[in-house]
Amino acid sequence: MLESESYYCPYCGEPAEALLDLSAGDQSYIEDCPVCCRPIEFELRTDGTEWELDVRAEND
Ligand SMILES: [Zn+2]
Repeated sequence: MLESESYYCPYCGEPAEALLDLSAGDQSYIEDCPVCCRPIEFELRTDGTEWELDVRAEND
C-alpha cells in the first residue's frame, strides 16, 4: 500500500512529496531533494496502517 506524505526539504525549504510503501515496514533511506538535489534522510516508522515520517538533513 502506497501513501504520499508532504514534507519540506531541510536544506532549501521547498515542499515536496514522498511516496511511502507501508507494506515494507520500518525503513530509513536517503533520497535527493527534487529541487536542490541534496541528500535528505527519511525515516519511516509504520505498522502497515499508521505511519510517522521523519525528514532530516543527512548530517544532523
Ligand atoms: Zn531541497
